[in-house]
Amino acid sequence: MGTAAAAQRLLLDDGRSHRHTLFASAHHRCLGSHRALPYSADRGKKSVNRQTLDDLKQQIPLMGYLQAHDWQPARPLSRGRWMGLCPLHQDHKPSFLVDPNKDLFFCYGCGRGGDVIRFAELYHQVKFPQALTLLRQWRGAEPLLQEVARFYGMQLHRHNEAIAYLYQRGIRSLELIEHMRIGYAPGGCLRGWLTQLGHSGSALRQAGLVTGLGYDAYVRRIVFPLEDNLYGRSLSTSAPPHRFLPGSKGGLYCWTQARSHPEVILVEGLFDYAVLWQAGFQNVTCSLGTHLNARQFRQLCDGPRTVYVAFDADPNGSGQQAAQCLSQRLWERGILVRTVSLPDGHDPNSFFVQGGDDRQFQSLLEAAHP
Ligand SMILES: [Zn+2]
Repeated sequence: MGTAAAAQRLLLDDGRSHRHTLFASAHHRCLGSHRALPYSADRGKKSVNRQTLDDLKQQIPLMGYLQAHDWQPARPLSRGRWMGLCPLHQDHKPSFLVDPNKDLFFCYGCGRGGDVIRFAELYHQVKFPQALTLLRQWRGAEPLLQEVARFYGMQLHRHNEAIAYLYQRGIRSLELIEHMRIGYAPGGCLRGWLTQLGHSGSALRQAGLVTGLGYDAYVRRIVFPLEDNLYGRSLSTSAPPHRFLPGSKGGLYCWTQARSHPEVILVEGLFDYAVLWQAGFQNVTCSLGTHLNARQFRQLCDGPRTVYVAFDADPNGSGQQAAQCLSQRLWERGILVRTVSLPDGHDPNSFFVQGGDDRQFQSLLEAAHP
Protein backbone atom coordinates (compact mmCIF):
# COMPACT_ATOMS: atom_id res chain seq x y z
CA MET A 1 0.00 0.00 0.00
CA GLY A 2 1.43 3.43 -0.91
CA THR A 3 1.96 6.21 1.60
CA ALA A 4 -0.93 8.18 0.21
CA ALA A 5 -3.28 5.20 0.48
CA ALA A 6 -2.11 4.54 4.03
CA ALA A 7 -2.73 8.14 4.95
CA GLN A 8 -6.14 7.90 3.31
CA ARG A 9 -7.02 4.86 5.39
CA LEU A 10 -5.88 6.47 8.61
CA LEU A 11 -7.71 9.65 7.85
CA LEU A 12 -10.91 7.70 7.34
CA ASP A 13 -10.36 5.39 10.31
CA ASP A 14 -12.71 6.00 13.19
CA GLY A 15 -9.81 6.73 15.47
CA ARG A 16 -10.55 4.05 18.05
CA SER A 17 -6.85 3.41 18.44
CA HIS A 18 -4.99 6.30 20.00
CA ARG A 19 -1.83 5.50 18.07
CA HIS A 20 -3.74 5.59 14.83
CA THR A 21 -5.29 8.91 15.71
CA LEU A 22 -1.87 10.41 16.29
CA PHE A 23 -0.56 8.89 13.11
CA ALA A 24 -3.57 10.10 11.20
CA SER A 25 -3.25 13.65 12.38
CA ALA A 26 0.45 13.56 11.60
CA HIS A 27 -0.43 12.59 8.03
CA HIS A 28 -3.50 14.70 7.71
CA ARG A 29 -1.84 17.59 5.92
CA CYS A 30 -0.34 15.27 3.32
CA LEU A 31 -3.78 14.93 1.83
CA GLY A 32 -3.97 18.63 1.34
CA SER A 33 -0.52 19.01 -0.21
CA HIS A 34 0.63 18.65 -3.80
CA ARG A 35 3.21 16.00 -3.03
CA ALA A 36 0.95 13.26 -1.77
CA LEU A 37 -1.71 13.39 -4.46
CA PRO A 38 -2.63 9.75 -5.00
CA TYR A 39 -3.25 10.23 -8.73
CA SER A 40 -1.45 8.51 -11.52
CA ALA A 41 -0.33 11.83 -13.06
CA ASP A 42 3.38 12.12 -13.62
CA ARG A 43 4.52 14.37 -10.87
CA GLY A 44 7.29 15.90 -12.92
CA LYS A 45 4.89 17.18 -15.56
CA LYS A 46 3.16 20.50 -15.37
CA SER A 47 0.19 19.77 -13.15
CA VAL A 48 -3.42 20.78 -13.60
CA ASN A 49 -4.24 23.91 -11.71
CA ARG A 50 -4.99 22.98 -8.10
CA GLN A 51 -7.98 25.33 -7.95
CA THR A 52 -9.52 23.70 -11.04
CA LEU A 53 -9.31 20.30 -9.35
CA ASP A 54 -10.79 21.59 -6.12
CA ASP A 55 -13.65 23.20 -8.06
CA LEU A 56 -14.37 19.99 -9.94
CA LYS A 57 -14.39 17.98 -6.72
CA GLN A 58 -16.65 20.53 -5.09
CA GLN A 59 -19.13 20.22 -7.95
CA ILE A 60 -19.14 16.43 -7.88
CA PRO A 61 -19.62 15.13 -4.34
CA LEU A 62 -18.11 11.65 -4.05
CA MET A 63 -21.24 10.11 -2.53
CA GLY A 64 -23.45 11.32 -5.40
CA TYR A 65 -21.01 10.08 -8.00
CA LEU A 66 -20.72 6.68 -6.31
CA GLN A 67 -24.47 6.26 -6.07
CA ALA A 68 -24.92 7.29 -9.68
CA HIS A 69 -22.58 4.40 -10.43
CA ASP A 70 -24.66 1.87 -8.48
CA TRP A 71 -22.81 2.05 -5.19
CA GLN A 72 -25.03 1.47 -2.22
CA PRO A 73 -24.24 2.42 1.35
CA ALA A 74 -24.85 -0.75 3.38
CA ARG A 75 -23.99 0.17 6.95
CA PRO A 76 -23.69 3.55 8.70
CA LEU A 77 -20.64 4.29 10.82
CA SER A 78 -19.94 7.13 13.19
CA ARG A 79 -19.46 10.70 11.94
CA GLY A 80 -21.69 10.23 8.88
CA ARG A 81 -19.43 7.65 7.23
CA TRP A 82 -20.69 4.59 5.39
CA MET A 83 -19.52 1.10 4.53
CA GLY A 84 -20.59 -0.78 1.43
CA LEU A 85 -19.42 -3.31 -1.12
CA CYS A 86 -16.35 -2.22 -3.05
CA PRO A 87 -17.12 -1.36 -6.68
CA LEU A 88 -13.44 -1.77 -7.56
CA HIS A 89 -12.99 -5.43 -6.76
CA GLN A 90 -15.17 -8.53 -6.27
CA ASP A 91 -16.36 -7.80 -2.78
CA HIS A 92 -18.55 -10.12 -0.72
CA LYS A 93 -18.75 -8.29 2.55
CA PRO A 94 -18.69 -4.49 2.82
CA SER A 95 -15.11 -3.25 2.91
CA PHE A 96 -15.49 0.06 1.12
CA LEU A 97 -15.55 3.05 3.45
CA VAL A 98 -16.88 6.41 2.34
CA ASP A 99 -16.64 9.67 4.21
CA PRO A 100 -19.08 12.09 2.55
CA ASN A 101 -17.85 14.98 4.71
CA LYS A 102 -14.26 14.61 3.56
CA ASP A 103 -15.24 13.31 0.10
CA LEU A 104 -12.83 10.41 0.47
CA PHE A 105 -13.07 6.64 0.16
CA PHE A 106 -10.94 3.73 1.22
CA CYS A 107 -11.29 0.00 0.58
CA TYR A 108 -10.02 -2.39 3.24
CA GLY A 109 -10.19 -5.21 0.70
CA CYS A 110 -8.11 -3.91 -2.19
CA GLY A 111 -6.33 -1.18 -0.27
CA ARG A 112 -7.23 1.61 -2.64
CA GLY A 113 -8.50 5.00 -1.65
CA GLY A 114 -8.72 8.64 -2.58
CA ASP A 115 -11.14 11.25 -3.82
CA VAL A 116 -13.70 11.34 -6.61
CA ILE A 117 -11.01 11.80 -9.30
CA ARG A 118 -9.05 8.83 -8.01
CA PHE A 119 -12.28 6.84 -7.97
CA ALA A 120 -13.04 7.74 -11.59
CA GLU A 121 -9.50 6.68 -12.57
CA LEU A 122 -9.86 3.29 -10.91
CA TYR A 123 -13.48 2.65 -11.81
CA HIS A 124 -13.20 3.52 -15.49
CA GLN A 125 -9.59 2.26 -15.64
CA VAL A 126 -8.25 5.46 -17.18
CA LYS A 127 -5.36 7.80 -16.49
CA PHE A 128 -5.70 11.07 -14.63
CA PRO A 129 -6.41 13.38 -17.62
CA GLN A 130 -9.09 11.03 -18.99
CA ALA A 131 -10.66 10.79 -15.54
CA LEU A 132 -10.92 14.58 -15.46
CA THR A 133 -12.53 14.58 -18.91
CA LEU A 134 -15.04 11.91 -17.88
CA LEU A 135 -15.95 13.80 -14.72
CA ARG A 136 -16.35 17.06 -16.62
CA GLN A 137 -18.57 15.39 -19.19
CA TRP A 138 -20.60 13.78 -16.45
CA ARG A 139 -20.99 17.07 -14.62
CA GLY A 140 -22.06 18.81 -17.84
CA ALA A 141 -24.40 16.15 -19.16
CA GLU A 142 -26.14 15.35 -15.91
CA PRO A 143 -28.08 18.61 -15.37
CA LEU A 144 -28.92 18.76 -19.08
CA LEU A 145 -30.38 15.26 -19.13
CA GLN A 146 -32.33 15.96 -15.95
CA GLU A 147 -33.79 19.01 -17.66
CA VAL A 148 -34.69 16.97 -20.74
CA ALA A 149 -36.33 14.25 -18.64
CA ARG A 150 -38.42 16.83 -16.79
CA PHE A 151 -39.51 18.50 -20.01
CA TYR A 152 -40.47 15.26 -21.75
CA GLY A 153 -42.22 14.12 -18.58
CA MET A 154 -44.48 17.17 -18.79
CA GLN A 155 -45.19 16.52 -22.47
CA LEU A 156 -46.43 13.00 -21.83
CA HIS A 157 -49.70 14.08 -20.29
CA ARG A 158 -50.35 16.62 -23.03
CA HIS A 159 -50.27 14.14 -25.89
CA ASN A 160 -53.04 11.62 -26.24
CA GLU A 161 -51.15 9.57 -28.80
CA ALA A 162 -48.42 8.95 -26.21
CA ILE A 163 -50.83 7.86 -23.48
CA ALA A 164 -52.66 5.66 -25.99
CA TYR A 165 -49.39 4.00 -26.98
CA LEU A 166 -48.43 3.34 -23.36
CA TYR A 167 -51.86 1.86 -22.76
CA GLN A 168 -51.46 -0.40 -25.76
CA ARG A 169 -48.10 -1.59 -24.36
CA GLY A 170 -49.69 -2.42 -21.02
CA ILE A 171 -48.47 0.59 -19.08
CA ARG A 172 -51.41 1.66 -16.95
CA SER A 173 -50.17 2.87 -13.59
CA LEU A 174 -49.15 6.40 -12.77
CA GLU A 175 -46.82 4.99 -10.13
CA LEU A 176 -44.93 3.13 -12.85
CA ILE A 177 -44.75 6.22 -15.07
CA GLU A 178 -43.26 8.12 -12.17
CA HIS A 179 -40.93 5.29 -11.18
CA MET A 180 -39.48 5.06 -14.70
CA ARG A 181 -39.87 8.81 -15.34
CA ILE A 182 -41.48 8.00 -18.67
CA GLY A 183 -41.88 10.96 -21.00
CA TYR A 184 -42.85 11.83 -24.52
CA ALA A 185 -40.84 13.62 -27.20
CA PRO A 186 -43.35 15.10 -29.65
CA GLY A 187 -40.49 16.72 -31.62
CA GLY A 188 -40.02 20.34 -32.59
CA CYS A 189 -40.08 21.84 -29.10
CA LEU A 190 -37.12 20.63 -27.04
CA ARG A 191 -34.52 22.85 -28.65
CA GLY A 192 -36.53 26.02 -28.10
CA TRP A 193 -37.14 25.14 -24.46
CA LEU A 194 -33.51 24.34 -23.66
CA THR A 195 -32.21 27.38 -25.53
CA GLN A 196 -34.53 29.49 -23.43
CA LEU A 197 -33.00 27.93 -20.34
CA GLY A 198 -29.58 29.04 -21.53
CA HIS A 199 -28.17 25.85 -23.07
CA SER A 200 -26.14 26.56 -26.17
CA GLY A 201 -26.98 25.05 -29.53
CA SER A 202 -23.57 23.43 -29.73
CA ALA A 203 -24.00 21.77 -26.32
CA LEU A 204 -27.32 20.32 -27.48
CA ARG A 205 -25.81 19.06 -30.73
CA GLN A 206 -22.86 17.60 -28.87
CA ALA A 207 -25.20 15.78 -26.50
CA GLY A 208 -27.06 14.40 -29.53
CA LEU A 209 -30.38 15.97 -28.49
CA VAL A 210 -30.44 18.13 -31.59
CA THR A 211 -29.44 17.08 -35.11
CA GLY A 212 -26.78 18.80 -37.21
CA LEU A 213 -29.56 20.69 -38.98
CA GLY A 214 -30.93 21.94 -35.69
CA TYR A 215 -33.99 19.71 -35.32
CA ASP A 216 -34.96 17.74 -32.21
CA ALA A 217 -33.36 14.30 -32.47
CA TYR A 218 -36.28 12.59 -30.69
CA VAL A 219 -39.54 12.92 -32.58
CA ARG A 220 -42.76 11.07 -31.71
CA ARG A 221 -40.96 8.85 -29.25
CA ILE A 222 -41.78 7.57 -25.79
CA VAL A 223 -38.65 8.36 -23.80
CA PHE A 224 -37.07 6.71 -20.78
CA PRO A 225 -34.25 8.53 -18.98
CA LEU A 226 -31.26 6.26 -18.30
CA GLU A 227 -28.38 7.12 -15.99
CA ASP A 228 -26.27 8.82 -18.70
CA ASN A 229 -28.45 8.41 -21.75
CA LEU A 230 -31.98 8.63 -23.06
CA TYR A 231 -33.85 5.79 -24.72
CA GLY A 232 -36.58 6.69 -27.20
CA ARG A 233 -39.11 4.25 -28.64
CA SER A 234 -40.73 5.42 -31.85
CA LEU A 235 -44.51 5.54 -32.16
CA SER A 236 -44.26 5.64 -35.90
CA THR A 237 -43.42 2.48 -37.82
CA SER A 238 -41.52 4.38 -40.49
CA ALA A 239 -38.73 5.47 -38.10
CA PRO A 240 -36.13 3.15 -36.55
CA PRO A 241 -37.84 1.79 -33.40
CA HIS A 242 -34.99 2.35 -30.94
CA ARG A 243 -32.93 5.44 -30.39
CA PHE A 244 -30.17 6.32 -27.91
CA LEU A 245 -27.96 9.35 -27.48
CA PRO A 246 -24.38 8.83 -28.65
CA GLY A 247 -22.21 7.16 -26.03
CA SER A 248 -22.70 4.20 -23.75
CA LYS A 249 -26.16 2.87 -22.91
CA GLY A 250 -24.81 2.64 -19.35
CA GLY A 251 -25.30 -0.07 -16.78
CA LEU A 252 -28.27 -2.31 -16.06
CA TYR A 253 -31.55 -0.48 -15.64
CA CYS A 254 -32.43 0.34 -12.01
CA TRP A 255 -29.71 -2.01 -10.87
CA THR A 256 -29.53 -0.42 -7.43
CA GLN A 257 -33.04 -1.66 -6.67
CA ALA A 258 -32.71 -5.04 -8.34
CA ARG A 259 -29.31 -6.09 -7.00
CA SER A 260 -30.43 -6.43 -3.39
CA HIS A 261 -32.64 -9.41 -4.34
CA PRO A 262 -31.19 -12.93 -4.28
CA GLU A 263 -33.08 -13.67 -7.51
CA VAL A 264 -33.02 -11.21 -10.38
CA ILE A 265 -35.06 -11.25 -13.59
CA LEU A 266 -33.17 -9.93 -16.62
CA VAL A 267 -35.19 -8.69 -19.61
CA GLU A 268 -34.24 -7.18 -22.97
CA GLY A 269 -36.41 -4.12 -23.18
CA LEU A 270 -37.80 -1.35 -21.03
CA PHE A 271 -41.39 -2.24 -21.93
CA ASP A 272 -40.71 -5.73 -20.58
CA TYR A 273 -39.28 -4.17 -17.44
CA ALA A 274 -42.34 -1.93 -17.15
CA VAL A 275 -45.00 -4.64 -17.18
CA LEU A 276 -43.07 -6.83 -14.77
CA TRP A 277 -42.52 -3.99 -12.34
CA GLN A 278 -46.18 -3.06 -12.63
CA ALA A 279 -47.14 -6.67 -11.87
CA GLY A 280 -45.20 -6.46 -8.62
CA PHE A 281 -41.82 -7.91 -9.63
CA GLN A 282 -39.36 -5.49 -8.05
CA ASN A 283 -36.40 -7.77 -8.70
CA VAL A 284 -36.32 -7.01 -12.41
CA THR A 285 -33.61 -5.30 -14.45
CA CYS A 286 -33.06 -4.63 -18.14
CA SER A 287 -29.99 -4.77 -20.37
CA LEU A 288 -31.49 -2.71 -23.25
CA GLY A 289 -30.83 -5.33 -25.88
CA THR A 290 -29.55 -8.89 -25.70
CA HIS A 291 -25.91 -7.85 -25.81
CA LEU A 292 -24.64 -6.88 -22.37
CA ASN A 293 -21.79 -4.39 -22.25
CA ALA A 294 -18.83 -5.09 -19.96
CA ARG A 295 -20.23 -3.01 -17.13
CA GLN A 296 -23.64 -4.70 -17.23
CA PHE A 297 -22.02 -8.11 -17.18
CA ARG A 298 -19.82 -7.09 -14.23
CA GLN A 299 -22.91 -5.86 -12.39
CA LEU A 300 -24.72 -9.18 -12.79
CA CYS A 301 -21.66 -10.90 -11.33
CA ASP A 302 -21.17 -8.50 -8.41
CA GLY A 303 -22.61 -10.84 -5.81
CA PRO A 304 -24.07 -14.29 -5.29
CA ARG A 305 -27.49 -14.52 -6.95
CA THR A 306 -29.71 -16.41 -9.35
CA VAL A 307 -30.40 -14.68 -12.65
CA TYR A 308 -33.60 -15.51 -14.55
CA VAL A 309 -32.94 -14.61 -18.17
CA ALA A 310 -36.28 -13.69 -19.77
CA PHE A 311 -35.32 -12.60 -23.28
CA ASP A 312 -37.76 -12.58 -26.20
CA ALA A 313 -38.89 -15.89 -27.67
CA ASP A 314 -38.13 -14.68 -31.22
CA PRO A 315 -39.44 -16.70 -34.15
CA ASN A 316 -35.88 -16.83 -35.56
CA GLY A 317 -34.49 -17.95 -32.19
CA SER A 318 -32.11 -14.99 -31.75
CA GLY A 319 -33.37 -14.09 -28.27
CA GLN A 320 -33.06 -17.69 -27.11
CA GLN A 321 -29.56 -17.95 -28.57
CA ALA A 322 -28.45 -14.77 -26.82
CA ALA A 323 -29.92 -16.09 -23.55
CA GLN A 324 -28.03 -19.36 -23.98
CA CYS A 325 -24.77 -17.60 -24.64
CA LEU A 326 -25.19 -15.26 -21.68
CA SER A 327 -26.14 -18.15 -19.38
CA GLN A 328 -22.93 -19.92 -20.28
CA ARG A 329 -20.82 -16.84 -19.50
CA LEU A 330 -22.60 -16.24 -16.19
CA TRP A 331 -22.29 -19.87 -15.23
CA GLU A 332 -18.53 -19.67 -15.79
CA ARG A 333 -18.46 -16.82 -13.28
CA GLY A 334 -20.28 -18.88 -10.68
CA ILE A 335 -23.67 -17.20 -11.09
CA LEU A 336 -26.73 -19.45 -11.05
CA VAL A 337 -28.79 -18.98 -14.20
CA ARG A 338 -32.28 -20.05 -15.24
CA THR A 339 -33.61 -19.48 -18.73
CA VAL A 340 -37.26 -18.50 -18.83
CA SER A 341 -39.19 -19.95 -21.78
CA LEU A 342 -41.94 -17.67 -22.94
CA PRO A 343 -44.64 -18.90 -25.32
CA ASP A 344 -43.44 -18.76 -28.96
CA GLY A 345 -43.24 -15.29 -30.42
CA HIS A 346 -43.72 -13.59 -27.05
CA ASP A 347 -41.66 -11.27 -24.95
CA PRO A 348 -42.53 -10.45 -21.33
CA ASN A 349 -44.35 -7.33 -22.52
CA SER A 350 -46.64 -9.09 -24.98
CA PHE A 351 -47.16 -11.88 -22.45
CA PHE A 352 -48.75 -9.44 -20.01
CA VAL A 353 -50.43 -7.31 -22.68
CA GLN A 354 -52.22 -10.39 -23.99
CA GLY A 355 -53.65 -11.26 -20.62
CA GLY A 356 -50.84 -12.98 -18.73
CA ASP A 357 -50.74 -12.15 -15.03
CA ASP A 358 -48.24 -12.24 -12.20
CA ARG A 359 -49.19 -15.77 -11.16
CA GLN A 360 -48.71 -17.11 -14.67
CA PHE A 361 -45.37 -15.38 -15.01
CA GLN A 362 -44.37 -16.77 -11.62
CA SER A 363 -45.11 -20.27 -12.98
CA LEU A 364 -42.82 -19.55 -15.95
CA LEU A 365 -40.08 -18.59 -13.49
CA GLU A 366 -40.61 -21.78 -11.52
CA ALA A 367 -40.48 -23.83 -14.70
CA ALA A 368 -37.32 -22.08 -15.91
CA HIS A 369 -34.50 -24.50 -16.61
CA PRO A 370 -30.81 -24.20 -15.77
ZN1 LIG B 1 -11.86 -2.81 -3.02
